Amino acid sequence: MSHTDIAIIGGGLVGASLACALAPLIERHGLTVTIIEPAGLSAPTIPQPSFDDRSSAIAYGSARYFGALGLWPAMSERASPIRTIHISQRGYLGATRLSHRDVGTTALGYVLRNRWMGHVLQSRLAELPVQWLSPDSVETITAQSTGYRLTLASGKTLDTHLAVMADGGRSGLKQQLGIEDDVTPYHQHALISNVRLSRPHQGTAFERFTPEGPVALLPLNGREMALVWTHEAEALTRAMSLSDTDFLSALQARFGDRAGRFEQVGKRISYPLSLKQAREQVRGHLAILGNAAHSLHPVAGQGFNLALRGVADLCAEIEATLNASEALGSHAMMTRFEARRARDRDQIVGFSDGLVRLFGVTNPLVSHARGLGLIGLNVMTPARRALTRRAMGLER
Ligand SMILES: Cc1cc2nc3c(=O)[nH]c(=O)nc-3n(C[C@H](O)[C@H](O)[C@H](O)COP(=O)(O)OP(=O)(O)OC[C@H]3O[C@@H](n4cnc5c(N)ncnc54)[C@H](O)[C@@H]3O)c2cc1C
Repeated sequence: MSHTDIAIIGGGLVGASLACALAPLIERHGLTVTIIEPAGLSAPTIPQPSFDDRSSAIAYGSARYFGALGLWPAMSERASPIRTIHISQRGYLGATRLSHRDVGTTALGYVLRNRWMGHVLQSRLAELPVQWLSPDSVETITAQSTGYRLTLASGKTLDTHLAVMADGGRSGLKQQLGIEDDVTPYHQHALISNVRLSRPHQGTAFERFTPEGPVALLPLNGREMALVWTHEAEALTRAMSLSDTDFLSALQARFGDRAGRFEQVGKRISYPLSLKQAREQVRGHLAILGNAAHSLHPVAGQGFNLALRGVADLCAEIEATLNASEALGSHAMMTRFEARRARDRDQIVGFSDGLVRLFGVTNPLVSHARGLGLIGLNVMTPARRALTRRAMGLER
């Protein structure tokens, strides 16, 4: 039996970011931190779901946070800036452009490959006094009077004052504690791949709404872009089985030519989409973060950005608690943490879900109204600036 002050269940994007963010507290307060992760650290023995072939839009606010953690210099080596976001809908007039110039920054955000973020996070973790139990996984979690007891696949038992569930929500651990999810199925899947275009994107990200679901393109290097193309189940099966040439033609027909000609496509992978939220986000001595707490439609690229603000708020609450010599993970601490998080989470969940619903309505009158809305947004600088700051993670 061993003990750790904080046990992080899952060393994916969110768990690994939290461990890095805790570094100053480990130093100042002598905290002990342990991460449990089934995929091996530097040479994963099983596929690591967080650090896969996806690319993520990292909001300006998240890049700034990684900067404060000292991680941005390494991350930015392979980050592609997003300078403009072009939003349009197929078949109707009206488009809007959100630009970094509206807010006076060099970029609205950045696109990073998840694999690269994983590499940077794990390299930093290897230098920190954080205990890695990996490859290993948590099999059971049980509440104790001042924390939780975890039993691991290896047979080890670990007691902790603060258990942070960052396991992506698929392990069944929440259910062991009787915490259910609220689930809204979208009946959609995201098909992701990298595509090469005939002309440079010049830092433009595209969000194109179509009656069959949104198509997003995020700028990578040169003429490469990361594609997120939403499909219903049958259409997904067809799109996955097309030859590269037919896939590119179908994409061109769906997206149009505003980004140029689609010339090449890489490996295609799909993810089922739903809106999921844990009914309880905290309990005494327990915090739920990342996908385990909320998984969103990727239409607005907000899931990880939202989770990272949860990481920042949890660290701030831990620090305040330690400075006040209160008990780590106490009911009072967890209630304060949840109070910090609720508004941001509700707004981002509402924003992402609202976009899917608003642009999912096929009524022509609604489509025209949306078109007018996009035109209006394009000419109204204050409204555009407010939306831009929200997308950048600068407004709460
Ligand atoms: C197609 C798509 C595109 C996206 N694009 C964006 C974007 O552009 N911007 C953005 O902000 N967000 C985006 N997201 C959301 C983002 O990917 C998620 O928010 C992020 O991956 C959540 O990471 P996580 O660490 O919480 O969960 P996961 O990535 O699921 O990681 C969970 C970790 O827990 C480990 N684990 C599982 N079970 C156990 C156990 N029993 N014990 C210990 N460990 C365990 C797993 O091995 C894994 O490492 C996108 C999502 C999708 C699907």
